[in-house]
Amino acid sequence: MSETIAAISTALYPAGIGVVRLSGDDAFLIADKIWRSNSGKKLMDMPANTAAVGIVHDEETDIDECVALVFKEPHSFTGENVVELSCHGGVYILRRVLEAAIKSGARPAGPGEFTKRAFLNGKMDLTEAEAVMDLISAQGETAARAALSQHKGALFKEIEKVKKSLIELSADITAWVDFPDEDVPSLEPQTLINTLSDVKNELEKLRDNYSRGRIIKEGVETVIIGRPNVGKSTLMNAISGYEKSIVTEIPGTTRDVVEDSVAFAGVVLKLWDTAGIRETDDPVESIGVKRAKEKLDDAQLILAVFDGSKELTDDDKKIIEQTSGRNVIAVVNKCDLPLKINKSYIENRIKPVVYISAGKQEGIEKLEEKIKEIIGTSSFDPSAAYLANLRQLECVKRADEAINMAIDTVEKGFTLDAVTVFIDDALNAIFELTGERASDSVIDRVFSKFCIGK
Ligand code: GDP
Repeated sequence: MSETIAAISTALYPAGIGVVRLSGDDAFLIADKIWRSNSGKKLMDMPANTAAVGIVHDEETDIDECVALVFKEPHSFTGENVVELSCHGGVYILRRVLEAAIKSGARPAGPGEFTKRAFLNGKMDLTEAEAVMDLISAQGETAARAALSQHKGALFKEIEKVKKSLIELSADITAWVDFPDEDVPSLEPQTLINTLSDVKNELEKLRDNYSRGRIIKEGVETVIIGRPNVGKSTLMNAISGYEKSIVTEIPGTTRDVVEDSVAFAGVVLKLWDTAGIRETDDPVESIGVKRAKEKLDDAQLILAVFDGSKELTDDDKKIIEQTSGRNVIAVVNKCDLPLKINKSYIENRIKPVVYISAGKQEGIEKLEEKIKEIIGTSSFDPSAAYLANLRQLECVKRADEAINMAIDTVEKGFTLDAVTVFIDDALNAIFELTGERASDSVIDRVFSKFCIGK
């Protein structure tokens, strides 16, 4: 018997449509108390996956004309009886509809409770449920596509393969240990190691993919650095597509670290346009320089900008020195003017070097390509499995470490019993990842990050 929950499932802004969702055993019974169809039909009697127009009301007055959608267990998002009331999207209207539903017997839903029920009713595993949240918060196209793949079970399928191998291996070992005299095929250490190594490879692929998944999801901390007047603001505007920092002819005007997020090169770049890092006595500018240095230390990607129409200055050389060994692209700007810059000096110290004209918007695609190469997204496959958060990474790490111990145990010639212990550890970590054996507190923590109504 599941209690019926209700929430506003769309954003609380004035909009064309807003949805109040009810889910639980009594969803139809409760919704029928606050909604009457124009045709006189009861929601209770409507076939699954159908809609009808009617009036939503409370005890006193009619609230709105709306469309009611009916989904029947188990064929709904939550796996329960679900009614969605699509009303006009006014915040006041939606709140009144929700209140009416609650007065008629529904309980206000907690954060993520609809998705939690979907998980508890076996409609999806924990990784797919977490992907619902990623889908909602996806900032760019690649992130949305990747989240959709996880929601459709890309990670789940990968993990199922690992799980199946480990369960089979564990069963074989148990049979061999328990019935050594019977006709059980013998387990050669090398066969064991091969299977365990295959599993280890799969787990390590997921671990390696994690940082790329993060980048797709959360964006790349990017610093645009260069001495004043080389064209940093212009470059930033060229890639943001709109004016943000003030472009001027006087050196040193971009005093502060300007923050902006732009979708570029298939990801979100979080851009900081810095004041450059030259020495200065100006107290205001020196604050900018200090912050620029801090940002530089934290950056995942650095775009070091130089003025191609001028020879390299000492400040330029300092920048080259300061960024060497980092994820840096040298951007030689103003290539629409005659080039005076010492190309070989830069090319020998920074790779890659891209020649552009930010002012004329030339060479921006080339820069885009190099960014993708450097942050490793040029080969990113959004349909592949990837780990979406730290919780998932921790589970995979634990499984991987246990498999390493299992391999070590076989190699050192310990008994198969000892190997089973580590395989079980790995399986437990995997079960926690999928939610099959996650504790209530882990599950609560996952769903507490959702918003109400999801
Ligand atoms: P910042 O101080 O590094 O942010 O430099 P700005 O973006 O403010 O640019 C300084 C000056 O260089 C401005 O007058 C820009 O119009 C000019 N500029 C920027 N990019 C180019 C370019 O690609 N070609 C030319 N010819 N001028 C540019």
